[in-house]
Amino acid sequence: MSESRTQNSISKRLLSWFQQDPEPMPWRGSTDPYAIWLSEVMLQQTQIRTVIPYWNNFMVRYPDPQSLADATEDEVLSDWAGLGYYSRGRNLHRAAKQIVQNHNGQFPKKPEDVRNLPGVGEYTTAAVCSIAFGEPLAVVDGNVERVICRHRALSGDSRKGETKVHIRKWAQEWIDPEQAGDHNQAVMDLGRKVCTPKNPNCSACPISTDCLAFESGEPERWPTPRKRRATEKQRWCSAILLIGEDVLLLPGNTELLPRHSGPVLARWDKENESPADVLKKEFMKRGLPVPQLMGHGDVYKHAITHRQLEIQPLLYRWENEVPHDSKRIPLSEPDRLPALHRKAVIAIQPFISGTSKGVDLVHDS
Ligand code: SF4
Repeated sequence: MSESRTQNSISKRLLSWFQQDPEPMPWRGSTDPYAIWLSEVMLQQTQIRTVIPYWNNFMVRYPDPQSLADATEDEVLSDWAGLGYYSRGRNLHRAAKQIVQNHNGQFPKKPEDVRNLPGVGEYTTAAVCSIAFGEPLAVVDGNVERVICRHRALSGDSRKGETKVHIRKWAQEWIDPEQAGDHNQAVMDLGRKVCTPKNPNCSACPISTDCLAFESGEPERWPTPRKRRATEKQRWCSAILLIGEDVLLLPGNTELLPRHSGPVLARWDKENESPADVLKKEFMKRGLPVPQLMGHGDVYKHAITHRQLEIQPLLYRWENEVPHDSKRIPLSEPDRLPALHRKAVIAIQPFISGTSKGVDLVHDS
């Protein structure tokens, strides 16, 4: 069989497999570029079942670029809370403003205009333009990389050099220009559901007959494992500042959560210092008065990229002047905070309700 006929047959098999049993998702079937863009941004690094309620809520609260642009960044981030990777929420908001300003509120159609929106890369451009407008642009995400590396037995780091170039070449050759959106969704679904990182289900795969990895009998040998950055364990302290029944939020620690307000964080890396000492220094460093320490919650864990954090939450009563750059949320609404801070507020609740200790870390130096 000639190469082009093989490609054609791959796309046919993928499309027929996808169209038999497409996984239901609320944005599937839509050709509204705004709705598709929203889903694609939310789906980055996030599971489908987590995204669905957020997507539904955003489509009700912000049904088009204009309504998203009209909201404040705080409102958008508050609705985003819990989805993680907050830069996505900020970029979404900035992109909506750009759409209103430069495209009269209409989601742009040209791939180069879509690619120019904040937070939009090659992948999102291809996904939105193929699904909404039928542009024959192949998507390449981690799932697609895995499928192609296995099918063509491509070695090397799939994100670099020649391997990366070859993956893109194959992805583009496979695509059916008449059904680009469905084709892209089919390859991604195949990678997610069948050609999984571990134990790929080759017997259920529509493209197994010409898959070189399947033929080898060891499909998991591809893609070549990437060198991982070593994880680093770090200890931090979090100061939850109580003001009345609210939590006072101050500009965040840029090392962990850039451009975000929350409890005050400080690295706790010296054995001979108590968490209260560490936070006292942090308040002084920021030119803030040291508030009255009340107690602590249990240490909690949180992972951010290569960091495994153990965080000691301490509770303070804030009775000083309220800093001009602060915000506040009710203590009863920790869900409005990113997970790192939400966990701190939840961890401190037993102390507040009087069911926990609060003395051994309260000493000050
Ligand atoms: S045959 Fe197996 S390894 Fe090859 S693409 Fe299908 S699921 Fe992946």
